[in-house]
This record gives sequence, structure tokens and C-alpha cells, in this order.
Amino acid sequence: MKILKFGGTSVGSAQNIRKVHQILNSDQYQNTLVVVSAMSGVTNLLEAALHRAASEDRAFEEDLHNLEQLHITTIEELFPVALHGALISYIKREVNKLETLLEGAYLIGETTPRLKDKVMSYGEQFSSYLINEFFKSKGLPSTLGDSKAVIKTNEKFGNATVNLPLTFKLIQDNIDTTAKEIRVFPGFIASSSNGYTTTLGRGGSDYTAAIFAAALHAEELEIWTDVSGMYTADPRMVKQAFAIPLISYEEAMELSHFGAKVLYPPSIQPVLEKQIPILIKNTFDPDAPGTRVSHNSNGAKRAVRGISRIGKISLLSLEGPGLIGIPGTSHRFFQTLSNGNINIILITQASSEHSICVGISNDDAEKAEELISAEFQNEISENKVYKPVIEQDLSIIALVGDRMKSYQGLSGRMFSALGKNNVNVRAIAQGASERNISAVIADKDVKKALNTLHEAFFEEQVKQLNLFVMGAGNVGKRFLEQVRAQKKYLKEELKINVRVTGLANSRTMIFNDQGIALDTWEASLNEGEKACPEQFRQKIKAFNLRNSVFVDITANREVAFSYAEYLSSSVAVVTCNKIAASSDYDHYKDLKDLSRKYNTPFLFETNVGAGLPVLDTLKNLVISGDKINQIEAVLSGSLNFIFNHYDHSTTFDQVVKQAMEEGYTEPDPRIDLSGIDVMRKILILARESGYHLELDDIESNDFLPEGALKTDSVDAFLEVIQQNRSHFEQLLKKADEKNCKLKYVASFNRGKASVGLKEIPADHPFYNLEGKDNIVLFYTDRYPEQPLNIKGAGAGAEVTASGIFADIIRTVNN
Ligand code: ADP
Ligand code: ASP
Ligand code: MG
Repeated sequence: MKILKFGGTSVGSAQNIRKVHQILNSDQYQNTLVVVSAMSGVTNLLEAALHRAASEDRAFEEDLHNLEQLHITTIEELFPVALHGALISYIKREVNKLETLLEGAYLIGETTPRLKDKVMSYGEQFSSYLINEFFKSKGLPSTLGDSKAVIKTNEKFGNATVNLPLTFKLIQDNIDTTAKEIRVFPGFIASSSNGYTTTLGRGGSDYTAAIFAAALHAEELEIWTDVSGMYTADPRMVKQAFAIPLISYEEAMELSHFGAKVLYPPSIQPVLEKQIPILIKNTFDPDAPGTRVSHNSNGAKRAVRGISRIGKISLLSLEGPGLIGIPGTSHRFFQTLSNGNINIILITQASSEHSICVGISNDDAEKAEELISAEFQNEISENKVYKPVIEQDLSIIALVGDRMKSYQGLSGRMFSALGKNNVNVRAIAQGASERNISAVIADKDVKKALNTLHEAFFEEQVKQLNLFVMGAGNVGKRFLEQVRAQKKYLKEELKINVRVTGLANSRTMIFNDQGIALDTWEASLNEGEKACPEQFRQKIKAFNLRNSVFVDITANREVAFSYAEYLSSSVAVVTCNKIAASSDYDHYKDLKDLSRKYNTPFLFETNVGAGLPVLDTLKNLVISGDKINQIEAVLSGSLNFIFNHYDHSTTFDQVVKQAMEEGYTEPDPRIDLSGIDVMRKILILARESGYHLELDDIESNDFLPEGALKTDSVDAFLEVIQQNRSHFEQLLKKADEKNCKLKYVASFNRGKASVGLKEIPADHPFYNLEGKDNIVLFYTDRYPEQPLNIKGAGAGAEVTASGIFADIIRTVNN
């Protein structure tokens, strides 16, 4: 005989009930016992209705109406019209009885656990009735069974204990295992020896089915639900989770105890004792293999089998010098909680005797605090023990696996993965069986923590990167295009899955935690919500995703000053915006320190030389113990373009205009010609070499005619340089006479930096610098005479975008 259980979603609508029928309408299920849950949402609705009634809130009538409507609609959709009358009047009659019960609770303004079980039992009563009628109407030989008559419990209402010997006997005496028919039984409900309705705890229909399976020595117990098995983590929380093909009873029990709702924990014991395997199947994908829970979980390659969590947890801790060396204190602590019927979910491993800390349900927190305060009243008043402390809104996350005990370093890996993603661990426990390692964390971090651990233990190979990109101009566009083009390669070759999760320009912003489609981002961004840097940041924080990177492709000051907030939330920062790294030294230093403190990269390679690996090379020199003594560099693509094109056939102002037109300068050419941009770059190089320098410390040898930089508009500036053509001709002539070329050079020498126009002789490495190329020469202890030399295109959208991209990939190896 087969035993199948269908859960709330599986029977949650007419359409789904049809699927259940299709599954059962096959030869292999001719002799079957089917346990059903209430239609999904119904048990909650009944609970809410009773709660409202007992709080003297007439809104319970609306709940009842909704309940009635749901079942009537299901009848109308499932059955031929001729059957509607009888079925609907059954529902109405029963809803009337239910209403009488609720009215009673309303009148006295309270409820009892006994009444609650009676009310909650209606969900399964209705669903089993309708499903049996539906099978009959489809020609299946089906009868409705009465779980209350065969499953006998004590009167611990809400979570009754089953008298298994008696129940097994009643089931065996009442069910003919040879009859070729389907017997539908309501799950979850039972009765006491006094005949009162009891229930087996939320999710208890699984247990009902397990009891039938054990009593009838079924070959297998099939649990049909809305997912394709027991997953490596709750698939609603972790998209990458996958069904575990084989799992041991113990592992399944541990996972379900720690929150894997797909199986109600008590369901395992009865079938484990009789060695009946459980098969978890998906009603909506019957061909998927599902999960088999049995004695034998051979073939497991991984030490960790699954990750689960329990939400709504509080930590209760008691501390004080009086706890040391006084025997019996912890006994009193636990006894008090036990007397108060408070379930201890986790005990942490405090190594000192000086504190006791346990995890309990949020619902029990207040009561537990009162009970412990009362028990230790004397010690508290004498200051030997401090008042108990409650921390709420926490969750427990647990790694589970039979084979974890034979592996070393798992907890190290677990906690370092959490730490790297800024998940604060409040308490730790390891089950004595070593089948589980648990951590208590804030509720708000659960999704991130589960995904982080899933990635660390089940997707070792692929690392997810979540990019939040601000700025979609020239460079931004190229960058997004490069990401789009490289995505596949990165995933296949480097095992990095890059996803642009947020994107903004100065007008609008968009988000998608599954990744913004990179071939249609422009259209999507146009439709986005209004952009705001602060809200962009709040949004990233709210997403709370692991491996998040904020990518600043703006030149915006406000944005540059928000990096500290990102870094201290463990969001890496990659930027081509020079403002932060060249701001006050203290601010720069702060950002570097935050990056170190939170182990979160802050990278700005493109601040100097666009995509050229200047800062990365410098960093490698410094960390390997080299010392930077001197730097000589041409760092402005714009100035290089201007001086390369300026000869006696033209005038300086014309070359500047040409550079502006061809996009080689900033819209305001004074930013380039004043040298401020180059000053910022040499400042950053000096700082990254380990020197404490401010922008004001840099000597700037201005080569412009008087008053040029004091002009109040670009036009006025161009006017001044036009009027001073001879000034520039002089500069050029002097250089020519010495056979030199003019280059705008940045120098740093043992703590001092300067920028300015220099005459470069023909044998100098700068002499042949073409177009918009940059060059940097590092003189170090290891490269004293022949400097380390980095040269290449130092401006342009494409190379800048690739520099940003390279920084992003560097964050992965952090
Ligand atoms: P049913 O009504 O069929 O009993 P439940 O809602 O009680 O279904 O349990 C199935 C749900 O359990 C899934 O939809 C899933 O969200 C949740 N769940 C939590 N952890 C896991 C896990 N590790 N594997 C599968 N499902 C899980
Ligand atoms: N209907 C009950 C509940 O929602 C039992 C079950 O679905 O297993 O808890
Ligand atoms: Mg369930």
C-alpha cells in the first residue's frame, strides 16, 4: 500500500487539485492512502479569525466569508453544476458551525487552546471532504477516512503527543491494506481519549502521513509538495539551491529542525524506526526525481549537505561574577525555563562559566526574561548577577551534514565567509553530534548569509559579483558593453558570475537583483525611477547582497564623499573619480583604513593613466618591500596632445580649440591647462607610495600667461591665450633652440612633488611620447638607475572602462 501526502499548495486551488488527481489516476496508485493538508492559507486564516474574535473584533466575520468563498469557488471550478448544490450546502453548514464557535470566543472575549484546535481542524476537514468528492466524481474508487477516529493523542492542544501504540493498533484494525481503492484522510488533526479534537503542530500533516506509513508498514512514504525535494537551502531564499538526491534520516531531521519547512521534523522518527524511506516529490513537476530520505545516503561528495535557518529568535543571556563556581546555577537557569514551558532552541558555547546564553523564540522572550529575573532576584539585587539581557529579531543559520565531523576547517570557512560579507555573528553552537554548526545572526542578514554560505559550500567554483554602477556616460557605456561581452568568458573561465544589479545616471536609476539585462539597459534606464545618490546607497544597503561592488563612473563630488559609507557596509568601491583619493589626506587615509578594517577593496586604478596598470604595479612594489624614491611622469593625455600638435605652423590657441573639439580636454580646458588634474594624479601616486602629502604641498609651475587662470569663462580664457600667442611661441622657440620638446611633467622626489612644463631632450624617454600616451617612471630601491617604466594610452573611454573592469576582477581575489 502506498502512502502519499499532499501539502497546502498542492491542494491550494481547483487547478492544483486537478494535478493531484492526475498523479493518482495511475495503476501504481490503485491501493493508496492519501493524506491532505488544508488548502494553502486556510490554517492561517482560521487562526487569524479566532484571534480576532477573541479580541472582540468583528472582522472575524470577514475572515469567515473569505474562507467560505475560497471553498465555494473551488467547488464551482472543480465540479459539474449538478453537484454544486450539495457540496456548497455542506460547506455553508460547516461554516455556520464554525461561526458559532467564533461567536462564542467573541462573546467571552477569549479563547482556549482546546477551542483553537477545534477551529483549526476545519481546514483539513474541508479539503479532505472536497478532494474525496472530486476523486469520486472523476470515477476513482475513493472513500473519506476519519483521522480523529484513529490518531489518538494526549490533550496538549496545539501540539499534541500521539499515543503511537494505540494509534498504530487503531489504524491496523480499521484499514484494509488490500482493498484497491483510495482513502483520503485529513492531515494535522487527531483526537484525545475524551473525544476532543487535537492538532499535531503547524506543518503536522507530514506527521499524520508518517504515522500511517509506519502503522501500515508502507514500502515508502511520498511527501508531495511545491518544490522538487529537500534543497541545499530554502529555494525561496537561495536561487542557486538545488534538490539533494539522497539524504540520511538524521541529516533530514537536523535540517528540518533547523527550519527546512519542507518536512515537519517529528515526521521522521516513526518511519526511521521502521526504515521506511521518504520520497519528497513536486506536485507541479512530477517527473523531477525529488529527494529520497533513507538510511543510506552514500554517494555524498560534500561534507555539508544543506543549510537551513530558523527565524524569529531571541538570545537570552545571564552574566555576572556570581555565576562562577556556584554549583547548580545553570541547573536553576534551565529548570526555570523548562518550568515555564520555554523551548530552548540553542545553547551557545561560552567558554567561561561567567555567562549563560540560550536561543529561544521571540514569542517566549518576554516571559523568559521575567521568569529568570524572578528566579535570580536575590543575586541581582546583590549585584552578583546582572539583569538578564534579551536580544530580539535574530535568526539561527545552520550547516548540516553527517560527514562534517570528519572534515577540518569547516567552521573556519563558514565564519570567514560570513565575516567577509559583514554578517555579524552573535553566538555560535555546534551540535554534540557534530552534524551541525549554527550561528545566530540578525534577521536582516539572513538572505545574504544563506547565499554566502551556499556559495562557499555548494558553488565553490562560481562566485557571484553584484555591481552597482553609477554613471552611464561615455565611459559607463563602454564599461557596460565590456561586461556584456565578457560575461560568458568570466563565468566559464574564471568562475565569476558578474551581474549589474543597480545602474544610475544623473537622471534615473534602476535595480534588479537577478541582473539588469545588458543589451537593453538604456531603454530600461530611461524608464527608471528618479536618481538620487543617497537613495541609491540605501537601496544597495537594503539589498544586502554578498560581494557587492559600488562602481563610481562619475566625476561627482557628493558621490566621491559617500565611499566611507559603502566601505563600512562591506560594499567594495571601484572608481575612476579622482576626487576621493586626492581629497584631504585624512579623508584618503580614512578610506584606506576602512577598506582594511572591513576587508573590503577600495580601488581606483583609473585615477592615474586610465587603464594602464600604474597603481597596481606600485602596490605590488610596495607590498613586496620595495621603496619608491622618485617618480617622473607625463600623466595628462590632453596636455600631451596639445604639446604634440603645437608647432610653428599653428598657434597655441588653435591647438587648444582643436583638442577641445576632438574631446581630448575636459569641457573646461582650464582644468587641464592649469595642471590641477596632473597634480591630483601625482598626489595619488605619492600617497600610494606611502608618503603623507596634501594637494597644497605640490609645487605647480604655471606656464600660462598672466591672468589666464583668473578668467571667469572658457571664452575669456581662450581670448587671453589668443592675445598672448607670442608667449607660447617663445616657449616653443626656446625649446627648439635646445633641440628639446615641450612636455608637461609631474615629478616626485623623496617627499616633494611638482608639476610643470619641461624641455625634454632627445635622449629622454619622454621625448617620443605620442598622441595621448602617458608614461610613468618609478625609481625605487630595486630599480635605482633604470627606472620601471609603464607607458601606453592614458586617456579614452575604452581603456578607462577596461581599467575599471580590471579593478572589479581584482576585488574577487581580495
Ligand atoms: P506543504 O504545504 O507542501 O507542506 P511547506 O510550505 O510546508 O509545503 O514546505 C515547502 C516549502 O518549504 C518550500 O516551498 C520551501 O520554501 C520551504 N523550504 C525551506 N527550506 C527548504 C529546503 N531546504 N528544501 C526545500 N524546501 C524548503
Ligand atoms: N494545515 C496545517 C498547517 O498549515 C498543517 C499542514 O499543512 O501540514 O500548519
Ligand atoms: Mg508542510
